Amino acid sequence: MTELPTNHNAIEVVDFRKVYGSTLAAAGISFSLPAGTVGALVGPNGAGKTTTIRALCGIIRPTSGMLRVAGLDVQTEPLKVKQVVAYVPDDPPLFETLTVWEHLRFIASAYEVEDYQQRGAELLTQLNLDSKRNALASELSRGMRQKVAIACAYLHNPAVLFFDEPLSGLDPAAIRLLKRTMVERAERGATVLVSSHLLALVEDICRHLIVLRHGKCLFSGTVELARESYAESGSLEDVFFRVTEEEDVG
Ligand code: ADP
Repeated sequence: MTELPTNHNAIEVVDFRKVYGSTLAAAGISFSLPAGTVGALVGPNGAGKTTTIRALCGIIRPTSGMLRVAGLDVQTEPLKVKQVVAYVPDDPPLFETLTVWEHLRFIASAYEVEDYQQRGAELLTQLNLDSKRNALASELSRGMRQKVAIACAYLHNPAVLFFDEPLSGLDPAAIRLLKRTMVERAERGATVLVSSHLLALVEDICRHLIVLRHGKCLFSGTVELARESYAESGSLEDVFFRVTEEEDVG
């Protein structure tokens, strides 16, 4: 994993704009996320969460603005960025004719992971996928497909992990497991950005909160700061509604 100095921002987004035809998906978004942190990127449907994550991974080009991941400029060093990040989309595209284990082998060869056999086996056990090791992707349930994508993401020890709505297809045991592994990764120095509209589900693992709406960043800071600023004793959901309501009034 790429070593980052402590107190370093693993993710920096400055005035990010993305225009699709006549749709302004990102209207000048700025935020940062310190290394070794689990951050939540929250907001209603259409807020710009997926657009922001895809731009941070170098999958789409920004219309303007600056995006840095693990100290690398996504626009000028896209290949290096791809080497140090993992992206788990909400509906992961798998190779339908490859087995679960063949997916891990493919990722290992793409990222030159030498000791993948042991780590791959451990990940399958951890994710309760042992019995599906030789199953084709086309034979897996939605939750299992997500778990395969998660195993692939973890296999190459990325410095920065992006999860787009990762909890939606998972059962409660898998959700608990995923949350635990995200925290473990962060404790070992990785940075995790999770997008979700299910606020309560990220409440207990995220130290940092970024709230988007209509392509704008309404709040970026620690969860404690969000609570202090917007809700006396409420849940993250209360904070979220307070932030977005304020924007309506303004
Ligand atoms: P979120 O992930 O918060 O639900 P998105 O980033 O997916 O939001 O979408 C933000 C806005 O950009 C929406 O209005 C959406 O319809 C639009 N959008 C996203 N992707 C595309 C695309 N490929 N082409 C055109 N419009 C898009």
